[in-house]
Amino acid sequence: MDFEAERRELVNRLVASGFLKSEKVIQAMLKVPREEFLPEKIKSKAYVDSPLPVSHGQTISAPHMVAMMCEFLELEVGDKVLEVGAGTGYHAAVIAEIVAPKNVENPGHVFTIEIIKELVEFAKRNLEKTLYSDRVTIVWGDGTLGLPEHAPFNKILLTAAAPSIPKPLIQQLAPNGVLLAPVGQPYFYQTLKKLRKTQEGKIEVSELGGVAFVPLRGKYGWKD
Ligand code: SAH
Repeated sequence: MDFEAERRELVNRLVASGFLKSEKVIQAMLKVPREEFLPEKIKSKAYVDSPLPVSHGQTISAPHMVAMMCEFLELEVGDKVLEVGAGTGYHAAVIAEIVAPKNVENPGHVFTIEIIKELVEFAKRNLEKTLYSDRVTIVWGDGTLGLPEHAPFNKILLTAAAPSIPKPLIQQLAPNGVLLAPVGQPYFYQTLKKLRKTQEGKIEVSELGGVAFVPLRGKYGWKD
């Protein structure tokens, strides 16, 4: 299996279909080996543009969704980013490649929270073997509460479907910050919402279209 060739081909298709636009997101998607974030038995499907089952009923998002969210987040070198829903760690690694590329003076950092302990361990191993563990910190806990000790964040993303945007996350967003969240029913479908906090602290929300994510759990998520 020539994963690198498959990765290049997928990125070309995502550019052609308009999901990938900016050079920095394109370069990040070309660098991060998605196959290294998958359980052994589904590695061969790493470059199919589809979500894949991981374990504990959870999924890794489709590459076009990762690409789209990275574009909408307006990521910059130096950004401090919070992800809610680490899953495999793949999306966090792609973001780290954009905000904290090797050999820049003021690299950013990615904090990612995962509520399922086994997935925390899985993501940690994946990030270690792909050499992202210095740029991504993974935390076990309820991501709807955010990480007040590391706030404020320039960018926040939820990779699970929320009933509404959790208040603590809005509070922990920095001025000029962007937050992305799928909001709607727990299964099929939600609307991807983009919230911007202005320099003065004003909140602006826009809608980016229909998406399908697994349900968000925790205090501000769906009850089990
Ligand atoms: N970003 C991931 C895919 C995430 S799937 C990747 O790149 O692989 C959504 C994840 O959100 C699941 O692993 C699920 O366990 C987790 N999750 C759900 N509710 C959560 C919460 N309240 N806090 C943290 N993680 C949560």
